[in-house]
Amino acid sequence: SKFSTLALKPELLTNIESLGYEFMTPIQEQSLPDIIMGKDVIGQGKTGSGKTAAFGLGLLQKLDVKRFRIQSLVLCPTRELADQVAKELRRLARSIHNIKILTLCGGTPFGPQIGSLEHGAHIIVGTPGRVEEHVIKGTLNLENLNLLILDEADRMLDMGFQPALDNIVRNSPKHRQTLLFSATFPNKIKQISERIMTLPTMVKV
Ligand code: AMP
Repeated sequence: SKFSTLALKPELLTNIESLGYEFMTPIQEQSLPDIIMGKDVIGQGKTGSGKTAAFGLGLLQKLDVKRFRIQSLVLCPTRELADQVAKELRRLARSIHNIKILTLCGGTPFGPQIGSLEHGAHIIVGTPGRVEEHVIKGTLNLENLNLLILDEADRMLDMGFQPALDNIVRNSPKHRQTLLFSATFPNKIKQISERIMTLPTMVKV
């Protein structure tokens, strides 16, 4: 079905249209209504399924641009994926003015990231190790976070990011929405979803 059947902000619907997206992909169709309602959602879908726009539109729908606080955190296994996600978010957010999306990834100098964080942001997209470092050092404050997204969660666990993920979650508000996307659903993913999510809806495409 069409995006226009969703109760999205008009500026988001305009952006979606200008990007040439008309019909939702299956993962978007099955997850977006619950995501927009504020539910926790587990999405099992690969790259190419349109998962980035599924969580990206949910994120932008929830975001209050007038509150210049970090409200959403997207965690990705690699810097390449984080850059892609940030790029897609910027495309989807094109007509929303003054929105600040910051990437925090390993393999890039730490110091300049501190400066960027001091200037503030609405959305952080990053890799678990570097995000955890900022949380530990106190340079990243997650007290206003209301949406946590794990993208390619299976890959993050395979890469040994479980302790970093747990530490980030421990430092996030309990009352938040959590979305988890994963290509596969092994026991490790089931266990972490039980620890960090509340009555999640499962969507498999
Ligand atoms: P992803 O699975 O998130 O990596 O997205 C795969 C590609 O599909 C990206 O290039 C998106 O820009 C594009 N895309 C996402 N949703 C739609 C849609 N509803 N209609 C057409 N293209 C889309």
